[in-house]
Amino acid sequence: MKLTVLGKSPAWTDAGGACSGYLVEGAGERPFLVDCGNGVFAKLRQRRDYREIEAVVVSHLHADHLLDLVPFSYALTVGPDAGVLAKPRLLAPSGAASFFRHLVGTWDTEDLISRAFAIEEYEAGAELEACGVSIRPHAVPHFGPTNAIELRDPAGGRIVFGSDGRFSERLIEAARAADVLIAEATLAEPDPGPVEKRGHMSAGEAGELAARAGVARLVLTHISDELDHERALAEAAVAYAGPVEVAAEGSAWVV
Ligand SMILES: [Zn+2]
Ligand SMILES: [Zn+2]
Repeated sequence: MKLTVLGKSPAWTDAGGACSGYLVEGAGERPFLVDCGNGVFAKLRQRRDYREIEAVVVSHLHADHLLDLVPFSYALTVGPDAGVLAKPRLLAPSGAASFFRHLVGTWDTEDLISRAFAIEEYEAGAELEACGVSIRPHAVPHFGPTNAIELRDPAGGRIVFGSDGRFSERLIEAARAADVLIAEATLAEPDPGPVEKRGHMSAGEAGELAARAGVARLVLTHISDELDHERALAEAAVAYAGPVEVAAEGSAWVV
């Protein structure tokens, strides 16, 4: 299984970058995406034909993780092969179909996304599959329902994408002994507010989480190009002794 970063920006895009989006290639013939935030569709097109995509897995219903479902839907419904291809699957949290109707209904017909994709709503803890990769969403605390996405290759490799969320025991459990943990490091400093109101982590917290989970490699993501990446790496390394890097467009890991 190979995972490639298409976009790693937080909710405001990096210069020339894209928000959350990862391309996953497994034993199957057609790859899939984890998240499809703003800018991701153009980044995908630089690497692969969007017609090849088997599925899109959405971690949670925040703009920076799903907005490029809109251009993707226009490509599939208005583009040159509209109506010719089978719909790709759209694996999204429960309530997503209604959310998408409201979102696109503000300027187009409500069924834009459901005409383009076969929507499959999932619950946390479900066992999903795409491209020969087992996919398991794990509920993690953030602003609203959110899922870390665990990816398991049949040969045993595991990559855990933490999605968005505060430091939590739930993410530690989901990431336990993963080959690669892709963890958000949105904040320059830990959120000083009450724990239950925190929605994001700092790089230092991501490092502590990686150490507690015993992962083999830590990748910091959802981190703006306006933050000091060298400082973020140093702070993650305070608690975590393994290899750590900041996600960059095109970075890839094979497990
Ligand atoms: Zn986000
Ligand atoms: Zn979010």
